[in-house]
Amino acid sequence: MTPKSPYEKADKRLEKILAETKKEFNKHRLRNFTGHDELNVLRIKKDVASLYKKLDRMNRKFYLEIAQEVYDDIYAEQGKEPDRMFEIAWLNEILDTTNEVTDFIYTNEVKRKRDRFFESLLVLTYGNYTDADIMTLYKRAFDVWARQTEQYEINVVDYSSRDAYRDLGVQRLRWNTQRDGRVCAECQKRDGVIYPINAIPESHWNCRCFLTPP
Ligand SMILES: [Zn+2]
Repeated sequence: MTPKSPYEKADKRLEKILAETKKEFNKHRLRNFTGHDELNVLRIKKDVASLYKKLDRMNRKFYLEIAQEVYDDIYAEQGKEPDRMFEIAWLNEILDTTNEVTDFIYTNEVKRKRDRFFESLLVLTYGNYTDADIMTLYKRAFDVWARQTEQYEINVVDYSSRDAYRDLGVQRLRWNTQRDGRVCAECQKRDGVIYPINAIPESHWNCRCFLTPP
């Protein structure tokens, strides 16, 4: 029997967050680029800053919610009552340090993406631009944001589930692939392998493998 993937519920929330995110980018575009008005650099800079601040806030709230949900679900599966509340300090530790999968610090990357997006909008001040150019810039900014948001969904689920098993006293965990024909060769070799909880191999971008008790 294939064990249940802990990403399922989080994925549903992710879909909502990304739809919300798309709306925010859209609103930003309509505020700043309607009718080819004069670019007002300072105004746009401020508006880009507040857009990314909002997106970051949305993501952090989402990550805390899924951390709690995954933790509580694992406890429920084991027939135990969870007694831990996930707080922002737990999340900050994940987001403020270099992640082994992404190889970057989430918090810094938010600022970098914000600045890059603003710079890409500034390019429009150098000449004529078409609606298609604007759409492309916004689409690219959304895509890279979505990719980061999704990878950290996976990271947060992984951290939270490992915390749950550790708190439950589980010593060893089984590696499970999604068994959906999209599993990479490296992960395929690990499917079903049982590892000590403190010696679980690193995963990679977009890896949706998950751990369960043996
Ligand atoms: Zn994998």
